[in-house]
Order: sequence, then structure tokens, then C-alpha cells
Amino acid sequence: MNSALAAPRVDTAAPTAPLRINGPRLWQRLMDLAAIGATPLGGVRRVALTDADRAGRDQVVAWMHALGLSVRVDEVGNLFARRAGTDPTRAPVATGSHIDTQPNGGKFDGNYGVLAGLEVVQTLNDAGVATAAPIEVSVWTNEEGSRFTPVMMGSGAFVGAFSVDAVRAATDVDGHTVAGELARIGYDGPHPCGHIPGAPAYAAFFETHIEQGPVLENAGITIGVVSGALGQRWYDVTAIGQDSHAGPTPMALRRDAMRACAEVVRAVHAMALSEAPHGRGTVGHVRVAPNSRNTVPGRVDFTVDLRHPDVAGLQRLDAALHAACAQIEEATGCRLLVQLATQFAPCAFDLHSAVRQAAQTLGLSHMDVVSGAGHDAVYLARTCPTGMIFVPCKDGISHNEIEDAQPEHLEAGANVLLHAMLQTARG
Ligand SMILES: [Zn+2]
Repeated sequence: MNSALAAPRVDTAAPTAPLRINGPRLWQRLMDLAAIGATPLGGVRRVALTDADRAGRDQVVAWMHALGLSVRVDEVGNLFARRAGTDPTRAPVATGSHIDTQPNGGKFDGNYGVLAGLEVVQTLNDAGVATAAPIEVSVWTNEEGSRFTPVMMGSGAFVGAFSVDAVRAATDVDGHTVAGELARIGYDGPHPCGHIPGAPAYAAFFETHIEQGPVLENAGITIGVVSGALGQRWYDVTAIGQDSHAGPTPMALRRDAMRACAEVVRAVHAMALSEAPHGRGTVGHVRVAPNSRNTVPGRVDFTVDLRHPDVAGLQRLDAALHAACAQIEEATGCRLLVQLATQFAPCAFDLHSAVRQAAQTLGLSHMDVVSGAGHDAVYLARTCPTGMIFVPCKDGISHNEIEDAQPEHLEAGANVLLHAMLQTARG
């Protein structure tokens, strides 16, 4: 070895470059984890609490131990890995996401948020940086909700959005329970679900995630500073008309439930556009009866999904939906029964300024964005200050085997995470 490398550095007066994570090492861990449950088209099938999920968890826990972290598992299978701080009274600064995937999922959704957290820890270890507050990396159980409902199960139980008993009793289509599957794969942990009793709750929670939409890529921007997540209202709607023969029934005398449905689709699209740029309106599921080529449909059941970043906007959309349905009943002679099926309140992330500041420190292009999808961070925001960092994904495509992201974007997002966490965890 070159002995000159051991000479003391003399350039201490020079400005120090900000600490950086190791991009290739982060990428390698992403690829190693993606090999577990890999699909032929380059995606990942690692559905919650399956054997593949167990293998993925085992790999992540092995990395956690190798980094010197203390690992605990709670009673819904959430994993927590802690790096001690120098001040035992300080609340932890946490980050994390999920490693379960959709049945035909991608390599980056969720996995990136967990592995970026491990990369932050390894960077601090390598640089010998101690933080006053402990650093914690969490892996939330069953974020995707494709095998067990509800979605975002582990983080929701953690903040008390649903009871631990209900979560453990949830079943898949074959009747397997969450509790049974946790035990089977060895992740039915002894720790109570929630912030550690008697200890301070998280001082901050950050989640890095691929955007899963096209906004950043379209704008050519590297970092999305997520200001919040859209509130959602999901409706079940039934249009009731009358079955009649497609030939003998004159247009003026028919009560066509499909026509009523089509008018609602048009209205939903218009009302979302009137709430640009963040209003959303979707009719994604339609069931026509009797579903026969030569019968005017007498009944159509369909869904409406409305989203908006603030409560007042959601209320305007709700009022617009009901007004449109009343008008369409009048025009079509059909009845429209509108029922609210489920709703999620809009969420604002308090720590957007820490994320923005970190992006600025690193000289990275950034813009404010809203999350149109649910994430574990949305639940965490109910109990602690929370921030989210988005990076672009190719063509905005996710929940798909071809989901893709650029190594330099993933590296940049993890650097933003590092500095946002350091800023909150320092003495
Ligand atoms: Zn995700």
C-alpha cells in the first residue's frame, strides 16, 4: 500500500464537500434484492408473507446485522433496525418503506426506500459520523395489499389506524391469516406494534420512493419534494334503468342505464379537470347487466374515485358528483344510487422544507409535487413529522414488471435522504 495515503490531510481549511452515499453499492443491493422473486420480464413477485417475502426479509435482516444495527420485529411483522445515537433522551429519526411487491411488481417500488435507508446508515458508519438522535430503518408489512387487505397494513397498525387483532385476523383468498403466515415465515415478532411505550415517538420519518407517475420525468427534474398526498373518496354507484329490446324500443322511450353511466364518466372527467392541476377523477370498474349485445342495459354498477389535495376541494368534487347525478337522472330517466365506499383524508408532509433544503445543499434540481398514491409515510404523518422524497421512474410506470429508474436518480434521492436525516438527527 502507498504509505502516502496515511499522511495527515493538510487541506482542512478547504470547504468540505457534503457527505455522499455510495450509488453503486445502493444499486447493487437493489439488484440483489430484486433477484429474490425475480420474474422473466425483469420484475419481482414477492407478495406479502409468502416464501419469497421471507427470503427477501432474511436478506434485508442479514444486511441490517452486518451494519451493526439492532433489529426488532413487531406483532404484525414490521421490522425495525436501529443505529444508536449519542443522546439516549433523543427521539429517533426514522426512514423506511416496504419490500412486499405486487404480483407482477417492479424492482424499486418500496425496496428503494428501505435500501436507501440502509445506505444512509452504511455511509454514516464508513464516515464515522455519530448522530445525537438514534437512526432507525423500518420495513412495513404488506404495503401493497394485493394478498391481504387493507393496504399499508403494517404502517396503519403502527399508528393505530386499525387494530392489531383485526390485522392479524385478516385472511387471503385461501383463508390463510396474517398471524398464521407471519408465524410460518418466522416473522411473528414479540414487540408490541407502535412507537415503543415509554420512549419518545419518532422525531421524524422520511420515505424515499420512485414517483410512480410521469411528472418529474416530463419536467426533467431529479428530486420531487412531496408536499402531501391527495385525499381520496371512493364511491360505489348503481344506475338503474330498464332492460328492453334494442330494436323495438325507440330512443326517446328507453331508460338506458349504460347511457347514465357514460354521462357520469364524462362528468367525473370534467369535474376533475375543473380542479386542475391536482384534481383526479376515475371510473375504473364497470359491470353491465344483462351485458347482452341486443338488450338496452337495465342496470350498471360502477365505481368513482375522486382525489384532491385539500378537504375543501374534495367537498367540491363530492358536491359536483351529486349534482351531476341528479341532472343525469333527470335527462336519462334512470335512478343513480351513489354510496361512499371508503375515504382517505388529504395529508400534508411537515418536513418538506428539510427535503428541499437537502436538495439545495446538494445542488440537485427539485420541484414540489403531490403524491397521488398512498404510501406508508401517509400513515406515519399521523403521529410524527414526516417528509417524502420522490425520484423519477421511467415513463411514470409502476406496479409493472417493466418499472425502471436511473441509478443516478436513485443515488441523488438517497443523498437527499442522508442530508435531511442528518439535519434532523444532529445534536
Ligand atoms: Zn410503494
